[in-house]
Order: sequence, then C-alpha cells, then structure tokens
Amino acid sequence: MILDIPTIAVVYFYISFIQVLIMLFVFRIIKIYPGMNYLLFSCIFSAVCGLLYAYQYISHYGNLLVFFSNISFYFSILALNIGFSRFLDLPVARKKLLLLSILFFAGYFWFSFLYENKSYRIVVFCLIFAIVSFHNGKILSSHAIDSVRPATRLIAAACVPYGTFFVIRALLTFFNETRNYNFSSFFSFMSYFLSIAGILLWTYCFIVMTVQREHADRTYAEERFGLIFKTIPDTVFISELPTGKIIDVNETYTLLTGYTKEESLGKTTLDLEFWKTLSDRDRFFDIINKNGSCKNLEITILTKERKELNALISSQITRFQNSTYIISVIRDITSNKELRQKLKKSEDTFQAIMEQSPMSFILTSTSGKIEYANPTFLRLMGYELEEVLGKNPRILKSGYHNREFYHTLWNTILSGKQWSSEIVNKKKNGDFIWEHIILTPILNEDGEIVQFLSTLEDISDRKKTEQELKIQARTDMLTGIMNRRSFLETAHKRLLTIKEHGQKAAFLMIDIDRFKSINDSFGHNIGDRAICMVTEECQKFMKGQDLLGRIGGEEFAALVLGFSEGEIVAAAELLCKRIEELEFYTENKERIPLRISVGVTFFHLDTDTLESLMERSDVALYQAKNAGRNQISVIN
Ligand code: GH3
Ligand code: MG
Ligand code: MG
Repeated sequence: MILDIPTIAVVYFYISFIQVLIMLFVFRIIKIYPGMNYLLFSCIFSAVCGLLYAYQYISHYGNLLVFFSNISFYFSILALNIGFSRFLDLPVARKKLLLLSILFFAGYFWFSFLYENKSYRIVVFCLIFAIVSFHNGKILSSHAIDSVRPATRLIAAACVPYGTFFVIRALLTFFNETRNYNFSSFFSFMSYFLSIAGILLWTYCFIVMTVQREHADRTYAEERFGLIFKTIPDTVFISELPTGKIIDVNETYTLLTGYTKEESLGKTTLDLEFWKTLSDRDRFFDIINKNGSCKNLEITILTKERKELNALISSQITRFQNSTYIISVIRDITSNKELRQKLKKSEDTFQAIMEQSPMSFILTSTSGKIEYANPTFLRLMGYELEEVLGKNPRILKSGYHNREFYHTLWNTILSGKQWSSEIVNKKKNGDFIWEHIILTPILNEDGEIVQFLSTLEDISDRKKTEQELKIQARTDMLTGIMNRRSFLETAHKRLLTIKEHGQKAAFLMIDIDRFKSINDSFGHNIGDRAICMVTEECQKFMKGQDLLGRIGGEEFAALVLGFSEGEIVAAAELLCKRIEELEFYTENKERIPLRISVGVTFFHLDTDTLESLMERSDVALYQAKNAGRNQISVIN
C-alpha cells in the first residue's frame, strides 16, 4: 500500500471521525461549556472534507467533490475559531470572520468558475487558512482562563507552523504558477499530513482543556461551598439519605444546638431529639419528598439543653458521587418571633387606645384620603366607617373658617410640623361642632411624610360656656341690656365711627326719680321691677345703631343717632310722659308712680369725647332734678 493523497485523505477522514466520537464522549461526561458545539461542528466538517476528497478519485464528479471538500475545510477552521472564542470567554471576531468569508467565497468562486485558475484558487484558499490559523493562535494565547492555559498554549504554538505552511504554499504556488502535478500534490499531501498531526494534537489538548477546566471549576465550587458553609451566619448541616445520618455541620450549628461536631456526626436528627414535635418532622419530610426541597418551613427545635427555639428550615436534596444528601439551613427566629409578639402587643395596645379613647382620631394619607377613623369620631360625627374610608376630610368642612385658616394649616403640616387650633367641623346631619384639633404629620425613617394623624376633642360645651360667660360679662343681669362697662366700651367705639362719618348724635342720661323711696316703700323686688319697666320703655325709643345701657342702680345712658335736636328733645319728653303713664301696681293693686328725669346733650364732632358727653349730660340731668324732676334738661 502506497501512502498517496487518496489514502491520506481517507486517513484524515477516519481520524476526524474518531475525533467526533471522542468529542461526543467528552460531551457526555463533562459539562458542556460554551463553544463546544462549534468545536464539534469543526470536527464534523473536517471529516466531511477528508471523505469528499478521498471520494473524488473514484467519482465522475471529481472537481465538484474537491470544491465541496475545500469549502468543508474552510467551515471546519471557521467553526474552530468561533468555538475557541466562545470556550475561552472571548468575543467572537464577527466582522473579521465575515470579511474573511466574503474574500474566501468570492475568490474561490471566481477562480473556480469565472476565471478558472487552479493555482490562484489554491493561493486564495491557503492565504485565508493561514490568516484564520494565526487568528486561532492569537485567541488561544490571549485568554484569561488560567486552568486551560497549558493546553491552549500548546495548540497556539501548533497554529504558527500550520499557518506558516499555508503561507509558504500560497507564495510558492503564486510565483510558480504551474501545472506541475507533483509540486501541487506534494503540498496537498503535506496539507493533510499536517492537518492529521494538528487534529491529533488538538484532540489531545481538547480533552486536557475540558478536563482541567471542569476540575478547576469543581474545585472552585467546592471552595466556595466550603467558605459559605463556614462563614454563613445560619446553621447548616448535611445529612445522608436514606439513613438520615448527619455527615457534616458548620460552626454555627454547634453554637445554636449546643452539640459538638463529634456528637452530631453519624447521628440522625431523631437521635439528637432535634424536633420538638414529630409532626414538624413529618411535615418537613412530606414537603422534601414531594418537592425535593423546602423553603422557610417554621419549626420548633430543641437544643442540647432542651431549650426551645423557633426556627425556619430550608433544605435541598442533592446527589453527589452516587449518594443522596439533604443540605439543611436553619435560621433561628426566636428573637424575631418575640419581637413580632411584642409588636403585636403594642399594636393591640395602640388599637385599644384608639378604639376606646374619648378623643376622635383620623388617619389620612398624603393624597388626602381617610384611612382610619376611630369609633369616637364616627359616633360624634354620625358616620359609619365605610362612609368615611377613602373620603377626603373636606367632608367635615363647616365653611366657618376662611381660606387663610386652611392655608396656614396645610403650610404647617406639609413642612412636617404639628398644627393645632380650635375648629368648627360639620357633622353628617349638618350640625356644627367645635373641636380642638391637633394635626400631626407622621414621618418615615427618611423624614418623608407618610400620613397625617388628626386628634380631635369635642369642645362644644366649653365653647358654649365661654359664649355665655362672654354675654354675661357684657350684660346687665336684671334688665338684659348692656352693663356699664360694656356700654362705655361700645359707645366709645361707636363715637369713633360717628366722628368718621360726620353723623349727628345725642347723649341722654336717664334717672328714675325718687327711686330710693320706691325701694323703701314697696321693697327691693318692686324696685327691680320698676327698673325693668323703665328699661322696656326706653328700649322702645331705640332704633338701629342706638345704644342703651344701665350704667348705675336706677340710671341709664343712651347714645342716639341721626335725629335733629328738636326730634331728640321731643322723643325724650315723650319718653318721660310714657313712663309717667305706666300702669305700675303693687300686689295690693296700689298704683306706684314712676317718673324719670333726663339730661340731654348733643355730640360736637370736633371737640367731644365720651367723657365730655357724659359730663354734660350729667350736668343736664342734675339741672332736671333741681328743676323739680319728671322733666328733661338740654345742654347743647
Ligand atoms: P333722685 O330722685 O335724686 O334720683 O333720688 P333717688 O332716690 O332716685 O336717688 P338715689 O341715688 O339716692 O337712690 C338710688 C337708690 O337705688 C339707692 C339704691 O338703694 C337703689 N338701688 C340701686 N340699685 C338697685 C337695684 O338693683 N335694685 C333696687 N331695687 N334698688 C337699687
Ligand atoms: Mg334716682
Ligand atoms: Mg340715681
């Protein structure tokens, strides 16, 4: 048997074919890394290339077979390039490979069909192969995966003579454009010869590369697991299935359970009386058997000192070296649970305060929706809870306060400050209610407002009393008209507006004649009734803005507006007459005469004050008394 080109092509096919088988075998036993499928395709193309080339010698379609054989070879090294890039976590040089492919196919087609020239076709073929080979070498020597470096360096080194061979072949073919079959055959033969050497080397390196990488990854994963196992703040233990014997525990396990590693290894959780109740254990194994894992199952465990701990258990069934294990992680949540209970208790307390407080509480969201209202609020305002939830507190607006009031309210609370005031709110039935309100913005940890708490106290009763006291302070209890203090204050203010508007006004001082003798003769009660009757008569003469007050025991003052002097005098005289005509009797139907004297004076816009008016009217009254009483006296 002669080692000619067809034979070496067949050998090349067989070797490539075996390489495919080896690769498929490697795929089965080792994890599939990225790019490995491209490397497999590369071998398949390589085998196809050898097969087609060998077959041309016994086929009628020799040229066509050579053509496709070369294209297969190109695809083979193209796939090799992409496979290496991916396997070594490097970016695929898409643009470069596309350009090379365009050049290859354009040149190859051109010199095969349009300008048939076998030598130039070989030149294109060899140059492109050389470039891809050198590029492969570059990829293999410039990656960052340490575990595969020895193998990749070896292949990278092989790429250099391989590429160089193709450059030499291209150059010699170009400069000796020849049809010398032997010369061309030598290179064809050498191509296959070197490719076979390359495949053998590459197959060996491929196996080394993947095994080393997998080993490194596994070691790294084990180291990582070991590190996590040691440093994780949770309790971790590994037990074997189906025996349930513990085979490894971490340090936190010994701290939590109180058992040493030695005490635990080889024992089951049952041996250690780990479960407080067996129902927890059954529940755990039900889940594990059903799902292969369990997540955060709440259980109660017992420590070596028989202390109960609330814990969450998360477990995973895993297979390792033909055995099955359960890796369990336990988190002690006893303190969390206690905290939760404490929180729940404080929440309940808070709830109870809210529910039972005589104060009204409303919680409002920042978007102005009522989120909570306590029973006192609902009872006071006449609402059901469902009627207010989600509503804007605007429903309570009475219209009593002006815009500025609400403006200040919002400005204060939106700046995160508390706001308090007395406010009139409206009940559901439309009644108004006085409340003391404290509006508190509730802030989160970042200082952002999350809710508003309104605390409202019903102050209607207080307000009513205040109002009454105010009225009492200003009113004469016997007659119901203004008392001295109130009259003087009001008259003083009224005179200012009279002055401002240039109005006419008169001041009257009215005194009951010989009142003391009424008291003395008929008693104090009759005296009081007399005072009231005089008051009523005086009131009949008062119009619009006029003021009447009881400024002494049986002495009244009146500020009368807008009449001429003559009209005033006439009115005062009429008043005297009316009082004199009053039908005032004792219980024994004895008529009691009632008479008054009146001092009248007029307001001088430029010079008068309340005091001067009072003085003058007093003098006038004195004059009326002196002149015999039951009459008026006027001082201008
Ligand atoms: P005159 O004609 O000079 O005014 O004599 P008069 O007796 O009316 O004057 P005087 O000022 O001496 O007496 C007023 C009396 O009014 C004295 C006081 O006991 C009485 N008096 C004051 N306040 C009240 C009151 O609220 N009720 C009653 N019944 N008597 C009062
Ligand atoms: Mg009197
Ligand atoms: Mg008097």
